[in-house]
Amino acid sequence: MSQIAANLELVRQRIDAACNRFQRTDPVELLAVSKTKPVADIEAAWLSGQRHFGENYLQEALDKIEALKGRDIVWHFIGAIQSNKTTLMAQQFDWIHCVERAKIARRLSEARGAERPPLNVCLQVNISNEPSKAGVPLEALPALAAEVASCPNLALRGLMAIPAASDDFDAQQQPFARLSQALAQLREQLPDQPLDTLSMGMSNDLEAAIAQGATFVRIGTALFGSRNTTSRTSP
Ligand SMILES: *Cc1c(COP(=O)(O)O)cnc(C)c1O
Repeated sequence: MSQIAANLELVRQRIDAACNRFQRTDPVELLAVSKTKPVADIEAAWLSGQRHFGENYLQEALDKIEALKGRDIVWHFIGAIQSNKTTLMAQQFDWIHCVERAKIARRLSEARGAERPPLNVCLQVNISNEPSKAGVPLEALPALAAEVASCPNLALRGLMAIPAASDDFDAQQQPFARLSQALAQLREQLPDQPLDTLSMGMSNDLEAAIAQGATFVRIGTALFGSRNTTSRTSP
């Protein structure tokens, strides 16, 4: 078995164990985060049954999408959105996890067009209130969500967050619980939107995220190994 196939098996076991432990009955999907990793790694995971892949850097992602054309892969964009790149993003991805401005949402909706199924979007929340971090503050979420819900070619699926790092299980759960509560409030605010998604949890905190209702866990390191950050010259 390849290393990636073995890692995939271990991560699936972690997800299953957490689902049992926290009595999750609805599905928890694994989103494999393949940023900076070669096409061959994605292919290895795909051969082991993985279908959802997340990428952070648009040009890198477009190259991979082209190289893997014809595979039944669901592509998720999980990085920072450049406002002049929304057309390519809306055309090439199935999901965008990191919408934090109404203007970006409107551009994505226009670029998606009415001919295709709506583009799935999550709103990124700055759940630990870190000044340096991306995401909308919780207070601004209802207004942003209302704007996004009015975009005809978007499906507002839920919320995404990257909390402040912690090694303590209880501390890890708190921001995830806040995000989960925020989603419940959005469902009341916008009953016509398909709000079924909590994109939260990474290699170090997926159990805490599943305990608090994650529906996508975004896993990079535990699947593909650590990333060599010095080899990148642009963000
Ligand atoms: C890189 C990245 C991940 C994966 O993180 P790991 O700790 O490697 O599992 C998840 N989400 C986002 C938004 C990322 O940028």
